[in-house]
Amino acid sequence: MPAPTPELSLVIPCFNESRVLPLLRQRLLESLPKMNLTWEVILVDDGSGDDTFAQLAALHATDPRFKAISFSRNFGHQMAVFAGLSRATGEFVAVLDADLQDPPEFVATGVAKLREGYDVVYAVRRRRKENFLKRAAYAGFYRLLKAIAEVEIPLDSGDFCVMRQCVVAVLRTMPERDVFVRGLRAWSGFRQVGVEYERAARAAGETKYPLSKLLKLASDGLFAFSSLPLRLAIYLGFASLAVSLAGAAFLITWKFLNFQILGHSPSEVPGWTSLVSLILFLGGMQFLILGILGEFIRRVYAEVQQRPRWIVRAELGFSPEPRHD
Ligand code: UDP
Ligand code: MG
Repeated sequence: MPAPTPELSLVIPCFNESRVLPLLRQRLLESLPKMNLTWEVILVDDGSGDDTFAQLAALHATDPRFKAISFSRNFGHQMAVFAGLSRATGEFVAVLDADLQDPPEFVATGVAKLREGYDVVYAVRRRRKENFLKRAAYAGFYRLLKAIAEVEIPLDSGDFCVMRQCVVAVLRTMPERDVFVRGLRAWSGFRQVGVEYERAARAAGETKYPLSKLLKLASDGLFAFSSLPLRLAIYLGFASLAVSLAGAAFLITWKFLNFQILGHSPSEVPGWTSLVSLILFLGGMQFLILGILGEFIRRVYAEVQQRPRWIVRAELGFSPEPRHD
């Protein structure tokens, strides 16, 4: 007999987390029963090389409310979150890190807020417990993203959140490869609210996010939610074309009037005026054409991302039909 659908699903990606898993299990078993909800915990083993999966299997054997998904190799944190979301069935779905930096107790706060009528409650970090350099890099990144992104992505919030199933259903329809969960979540719309929390230090083990993975995550955010990098060429193209036309006009005038600037006149070097004018003009043209190509690439990129073109929150006056997916 299939188990009834739980009310709450927790999605937790785990990559080489064998040292934190016992602590995580203990914290979850302390905090979840206080919520008076039926629950499931979906642990996603992202191709760990240690005994993470063996521990998950043991956990499932003793308590089937703990479920596990195991990747064939390391596909990255964001993919692990997506895989977990794809199997989450609860009306409330929470995403948290395995290392207890995201306190499971926050989930209760989130669910209470959802019951007030929100669809997404995302956690906003009050203070980070990392070194100064890392904090400055994070702060800079989130502010840059906010400045250039085409959707409002809240500052200082990560993937830690509690959402309603309707939002998760939308995320599931998104087939893009380089996912940036917090961006797609913001993009999906619905009623969203941020709640501050104190981000703890990692409970055990080391970070699984080396600089290379962080840079990949940051570029996924910037490229998936801003077309500014592509449009840069068109702006530069217009600017340099304007400068080159003005420069060429000046050089030609100078050539004909043949006055001296800093002791030199254009007649000293034959061919100089035409050469420099041409270089300026062609440079500007190239930028402009690159920009036009960029605009086409942006459109192609948006097409292949295949995000839904609109998302319906509710419908009135239609015969009941199953929702998308
Ligand atoms: N993680 C993952 N795959 C990866 C890297 C990390 O599933 O390739 C998981 C990790 O197990 C943890 C979460 O993502 O649950 C966040 O990673 P971590 O705490 O190491 O990042 P940090 O907090 O240091 O930025
Ligand atoms: Mg962490």
